[in-house]
Amino acid sequence: MDLKQHIRTVPDFPKPGIEFYDISTLLAHPRAWRACVRRLADAVDDMQPDVLVGIESRGFLTAAPLALELGLGFVMVRKKGKLPGEVVHYEYGLEYGTDTIEIQKDAIESGQRIVILDDLLATGGTLAASAALCKQMGGDVRGAVCIIELTDLKGRDKINIPFTSLLKYE
Ligand code: 5GP
Repeated sequence: MDLKQHIRTVPDFPKPGIEFYDISTLLAHPRAWRACVRRLADAVDDMQPDVLVGIESRGFLTAAPLALELGLGFVMVRKKGKLPGEVVHYEYGLEYGTDTIEIQKDAIESGQRIVILDDLLATGGTLAASAALCKQMGGDVRGAVCIIELTDLKGRDKINIPFTSLLKYE
């Protein structure tokens, strides 16, 4: 199945000049989504994780079915202020300003093998920050898997962990 057929490209979103790769059309097509989840599961399984970490918000959609498929727990990395209880933060630089992500303090045990999931890798900033946060908590970050990779942005070089993507766009 050609999964690229099920990704919609939206010009000038969220800003003029940006082409947005929309996975809504993939999620809306059960056979294509099923095929995508199977391929992601193979990539994730190769990294032999104990737990999956999904990045808000499309990373949740990507990670949750895999956790069920592979019989693994699923942990959320969220934007600041969304998770209850004690959390660990990580602040990282954006083009203009900074952003903060959080994870619940008891979500990861020291030495646990982690694979991080998101829908798309662009500059790699979000994934690099999530990997740093998981490592700060003592996690053994085995790698990351995304559905889509924007190869020209070279995010892969920035994240510095084993990385697999299913669909590549320049
Ligand atoms: P990065 O931090 O690698 O520059 O950006 C990746 C993050 O932004 C991911 O969490 C991803 O969901 C979101 N993102 C950036 N561009 C796109 C896009 O074209 N399509 C989708 N679906 N997500 C995007």
